[in-house]
Amino acid sequence: MLRKTNNFSDILLQENPSDVLRRSFEGGRIAQTYLFAGKASVGRMAVAKAFSALLQCKSPIKDENGRLDSCGKCEDCKRIISNSHPDVKLITPNGNEIKIDQIRELQDIAVLKPTLGNWQIFIIDPAEKLNQSSSNALLKTLEEAPAHSLFILLASDTGAVLPTVLSRSEIVRFNSPSHQQVREILQNKFNMKPEAAAACYALSEGNFGQALSMAEDYEYDPEVFTIKRAHTTYLLQLQMFAQLIENDFSSVNTLEKAVNKAWQLQTMTYQPLLEARKQLCRSLAMNTGLPKAFPLMFSQEIINTIDSASAFIRKSLDPMLSESKKSYPSAVIKDIETQISAATDKWGSDQIEKLFICLMNLYTDAMLMAANAEETLLLNLDRKEDIITIARVEGFALLRSRIEMLEKSINLLRRYIQPLLILENVITQIGGAEA
Ligand SMILES: [Zn+2]
Repeated sequence: MLRKTNNFSDILLQENPSDVLRRSFEGGRIAQTYLFAGKASVGRMAVAKAFSALLQCKSPIKDENGRLDSCGKCEDCKRIISNSHPDVKLITPNGNEIKIDQIRELQDIAVLKPTLGNWQIFIIDPAEKLNQSSSNALLKTLEEAPAHSLFILLASDTGAVLPTVLSRSEIVRFNSPSHQQVREILQNKFNMKPEAAAACYALSEGNFGQALSMAEDYEYDPEVFTIKRAHTTYLLQLQMFAQLIENDFSSVNTLEKAVNKAWQLQTMTYQPLLEARKQLCRSLAMNTGLPKAFPLMFSQEIINTIDSASAFIRKSLDPMLSESKKSYPSAVIKDIETQISAATDKWGSDQIEKLFICLMNLYTDAMLMAANAEETLLLNLDRKEDIITIARVEGFALLRSRIEMLEKSINLLRRYIQPLLILENVITQIGGAEA
């Protein structure tokens, strides 16, 4: 992993929010609730951890510019690095939402004195996932919270939280780095060649955090596939990914770890699958006149692979679950089984959503090219030639309607409308099937 420390000096492209927080610490003007407003993966969590480390650190140090930073060596710092600090709690969605029980639990802890650090810190990620009742419970918690507790809410923008919560929060705004800024960071920080940095970033579909964690062991391979081969490779890599997850799950021996791991599925990535997905989308976008039977056959194979991979992942937790039946009430086991099922289903539908996002990013780039935009604005800069071809063949208006169609499809997918039909429809539309 890239982030071996939690120092502010390691934060990339977020100098402004970092400075705001360090100044408030140095001036002793620490707010009780912060709202970190910025897009996902731009570094909100990294800054939240750097700030938590500075707040908890036993002996903060000064950096070369004379600014305070955490020492990185004391017990508090070490535990924040390993995500095991007892007084820094991360609250993430349980299922699709942050539930009221989670906030009630937080409320119980917030009143207690910190056990190791100076503060009881709660990081809520993302605040968008608070529902009506958990938002209200959070508001009550904020109103009654003792002085030693501190809340950091991560959100895409200020409209994501209740106005009453917002009015109690100090807003810290995060920058959205441009594609070009991210590529330059990858080149400089990891000594990547420009084409490798472009390829690595394109694979992350514009996710800065993912590009960073991938960059360290990224291998550049400019191979081009045919559509059939791209499809087969994609299915194979999906199975490999599921196998990898199953191996990872086989070491899980407690219910708590099983639930955590299941929800972490959403953030797990596997580089060969990212590459296979990109190749598949590229082939789909570049090919016109697919055989008529192709979209259905193609979609069916993808859905079958995803379904059996999800079942496979779920099954790998069975031995642990049946072992737990001896020592836990059946209601607890049932609740955990439901959560694991929901998380693996989400993993499956995420695979299709990611295909759509990948296609959408290719078309967005092509639309930019069709509008004569500067090429540094491209996400898929490593596929510039393809993008120019797609732009020329399809034209601005068709590209725009394709993007709209993909946006609609993603919304349908999120509402659990039949994924097979949605996928088949997308492939038929973009594949330009023969009549
Ligand atoms: Zn320290």
